[in-house]
Amino acid sequence: MELAENIIQKRPEGLSSPSKKKQRKYQHTLTKQTGAKCTIFPTKHIGICNSGLVNGLSEEVVYEHFSKYGKIEQILMLPGKSCCFVSFDDIKCSTKAFNNINGVLNIAQYLKPVFLSFVENIPESLIEANLKHDSDPPNGLIILENFITDSEERAFLALNDFNRLGSSLKHRQVKHYGYEFKYDINNVDLNCPLEEKIPKECDILWERLRIAYPQLIFVEPDQLTVNCYKPGQGIPSHVDTHSAFEDPIFILSLGSAIVMDFKNDNGDHHSLLIPQKSFVIMSGESRYAYTHGITPRKLDILQTKAGLTVFHRAIRVSFTFRKVRNGKCCCKFHSKCDSYLRTHEKSYTAFGQLAERVEETHVHKVYENIAQHFSETRHKPWPNVVDFIKSFETGSLLVDVGCGNGKYMNCGQNIFQIGLDTSISLLNVCREKQYQVLLGNCLRIPLLDNVADGAISIAVIHHLSTEERRFSAIRELLRILKAGGRVLVYVWAKEQKHRNEKSSYLKQDRKNRRCEENEAVSNEKLTLVDGVEIPIHTNRTQFKHQDVLVPWKLKKNSGKSLNTGTDESQTFLRYYHVFKEGELENMCAQFNSKLLHSYYDQGNWCVILEKK
Ligand SMILES: [Zn+2]
Repeated sequence: MELAENIIQKRPEGLSSPSKKKQRKYQHTLTKQTGAKCTIFPTKHIGICNSGLVNGLSEEVVYEHFSKYGKIEQILMLPGKSCCFVSFDDIKCSTKAFNNINGVLNIAQYLKPVFLSFVENIPESLIEANLKHDSDPPNGLIILENFITDSEERAFLALNDFNRLGSSLKHRQVKHYGYEFKYDINNVDLNCPLEEKIPKECDILWERLRIAYPQLIFVEPDQLTVNCYKPGQGIPSHVDTHSAFEDPIFILSLGSAIVMDFKNDNGDHHSLLIPQKSFVIMSGESRYAYTHGITPRKLDILQTKAGLTVFHRAIRVSFTFRKVRNGKCCCKFHSKCDSYLRTHEKSYTAFGQLAERVEETHVHKVYENIAQHFSETRHKPWPNVVDFIKSFETGSLLVDVGCGNGKYMNCGQNIFQIGLDTSISLLNVCREKQYQVLLGNCLRIPLLDNVADGAISIAVIHHLSTEERRFSAIRELLRILKAGGRVLVYVWAKEQKHRNEKSSYLKQDRKNRRCEENEAVSNEKLTLVDGVEIPIHTNRTQFKHQDVLVPWKLKKNSGKSLNTGTDESQTFLRYYHVFKEGELENMCAQFNSKLLHSYYDQGNWCVILEKK
């Protein structure tokens, strides 16, 4: 009797045995994803096994909860992973954090508890990959610190009274001088200059700049955008439209320091601290080839070799000075140059009238033809999509718009799922499995307004060939949702390398695995009608264009039972519009919905929206 009592008392606090089982499962996943060795003995390093960037857990939240138990040496968030690491200065603190947080603190996705494990070490390779993008600014970016004095800063701040200003942007307050920057066309209208020019109080900046940086060639700006960011607000990654503004661009920062992220097509990522009272010169590569953006959060954490530095944000006001461009941009950074793309990719503008034809020939008919083969190769549901579906309460109605072979149709527990697709062959696959499915197009969902608790649109919207149609598809998804309903959208990313890591789409490349430099890329194009061409993409390589045809090879005899025309080896070309970073977010920002989560997963850009 005494013995039994002892055993009960020795059981670790807070954890019942079913959770222990769960914990072992999570530890196993952590090791598999990162190579870190789990241990039952306390160390300075803690792995969060079941939540990471992919689940919407941010460095900020990890810091907020773990720093209560002592000084943190390092937080390691891993792009594309559902786990992360925290290291403390000493074991006492990490043990305290472990005991208070493990299985108890609900910061995992959908407010579930996090499960922790001590790890022997954080693998060196992970740390290095994470540190790589922090230190140096990209080419062409110069930060001049303490460019103005405290009293000048106060004078600049006094130029705008943001409390009185109305604004159509939800995330921050904006005011324009000289010309208005129109966010719907991403450009300025040269024929409509504003009455209010750049305040003359700004003139001191140009005199000072000539002294501080005499080798810089510039024309005095004629356009000014003033942004006011409260802590927690940010701006999606973007490139200032090439054809709208000259090079360089200047940013004066007032009120607070902030971390700005610069990213290019090669997966290079620089997180830079832009100090209060600093003056930034953005020119050349940093102006043309890099996107820049500010992550919405209340504090910035900078990780350097020296350790962790935390900056709490205050209200920041930025003055962005630009010279409006008259004519085309002639830069050499073609992938981000609207002037170049407009003249060289005729399809860019000409798709309008051809949209339905492109989609009929290169989406709907193709799926009809490859249905069986497609279905055979699309078994494995993506874990984060399944988690989203499982987050709905018993009795919820969830609509899978573009359900394909129905691989997500039985993922929910005690919820009612309806699927929608344009392919009769794929719908037949669903019907064989007794799923509830409808024939229909994502632009005209055959359901009433405000009926669904949730919706998913997985790998669908990238098949729509104009921006207007992609926009309508999101509007249609929100239309069928009840207020408070949530939708998950996945679209294929142009960036198949994210934070220096290749997507599984690239990793599956057998031919090019060894010599990346010599990617066997074709320059083939398909002429749609006179003057409108779509480039044909080489599978398993990085995307060179946003509007592409992606080949699907159907091997001999693989499609015989579904379609008589496919009993020989045949290549089908599927149309895709691959999304650039920030593009989906920007599109979603125009609706009356709340962006709950935005992330990169399996080579896709993904968002979760909540209808207001
Ligand atoms: Zn350009």
